[in-house]
Amino acid sequence: MPSTARAFGTSAAANPLAPMSIPRREPGPTDVEMEILFCGVCHSDVHTARSEWPGTQYACVPGHEIVGRVTKVGSQVTKLKVGDIGATGCMVDSCRTCSSCQQGLEQFCTTGATFTYNSPDKHLGGHTFGGYSSGIVVDEAFTLRVPQGLDLAATAPLLCAGITTYSPLRHWKVGPGQKVGIVGLGGLGHMGVKFARAFGAHVVLFTTSPAKVADGLRLGAHEVVVSTDAAAMAKHAGTFHFILDCVSAQHDLNAYLALLKLDGTLTLVGVPEQPLAVHAFSVIMPRRNFSGSCIGGIAETQEMLEFCARHGIVSDIELIPIQQINEAWTRMIKQDVRYRFVIDMASLKG
Ligand code: NAP
Ligand code: ZN
Repeated sequence: MPSTARAFGTSAAANPLAPMSIPRREPGPTDVEMEILFCGVCHSDVHTARSEWPGTQYACVPGHEIVGRVTKVGSQVTKLKVGDIGATGCMVDSCRTCSSCQQGLEQFCTTGATFTYNSPDKHLGGHTFGGYSSGIVVDEAFTLRVPQGLDLAATAPLLCAGITTYSPLRHWKVGPGQKVGIVGLGGLGHMGVKFARAFGAHVVLFTTSPAKVADGLRLGAHEVVVSTDAAAMAKHAGTFHFILDCVSAQHDLNAYLALLKLDGTLTLVGVPEQPLAVHAFSVIMPRRNFSGSCIGGIAETQEMLEFCARHGIVSDIELIPIQQINEAWTRMIKQDVRYRFVIDMASLKG
């Protein structure tokens, strides 16, 4: 018997988010039911709800940075018990048998992972609804344990912004002796700065916002470059081992490819609405790599949470009641986020 959860969502691309009810399934033998305590606000929520990317299903309830308290577990669940603090990120299921799933890369499931919102719902039909809601039911294989000692509200953004930056920095083996660039100081970018610094690299932040320079240094960058300053950009030409591009909107990739050394890599995690132009000369001379990365698998997400607990890393957040979500989206789009909005889900009860 499905039950009902309270949520905030939208019924059309042009509409603001508003209260609505959504169905949640009764937990099955391997399911965990959580009361959602905190949900981070990712720019992907906006891209999806406003149909800036193809394929949005309405009603759309976004939210994939979820920290909650376990309220019910199925008979076969071993990872979490009632009363524990659990978490869920961008995925709630996958085929679990393809080569990607077997390597712990569920986000690249060859039949398509089930994303936390806007994916076909295997249990109830229709599509999945995300974490801007009072509760969620997730198979335990797609839940995470939140280590002791982490601030819970500031942990929520680790479930997307955290893993999306941790995973490529690990995959491309960022570490001591390397010069690493992070482009865009938003939710992803500020986690990228913290992780790159914690991994021992020399970190350079690129921002379009002069007002963020001091914060960039405080968050862990060794240097901050305002990217509209052509002379400052030119000083770094051909010097980077790795650059992580976290920008949500149109920008000139060639300006960043020009900063890579021979065999350096630029990895995109930002997903602007429109295609980005790459000039052939930006990559052929001198032999440069251009790549992308998508969130991270479940085991790596758990590893990232443990790393954060050991190193005292969480997100810098502004906690908001859900009634301020439309205003928060407007501010995020204007690059005015310091550096992740997190919704205090207790406000949904009020
Ligand atoms: P965000 O908090 O809004 O940060 C984006 C940052 O990009 C801004 O703070 C700004 O930084 C910079 N920026 C924005 N507009 C710009 C423009 N017109 N020109 C140059 N720079 C601009 O967004 P987010 O939540 O971090 O997400 C960033 C992107 O990653 C989004 O497209 C999102 O959908 C995507 N994403 C991808 C994955 C993945 O798995 N690959 C996962 C999550 C999110 P400055 O003010 O410092 O310039
Ligand atoms: Zn996200």
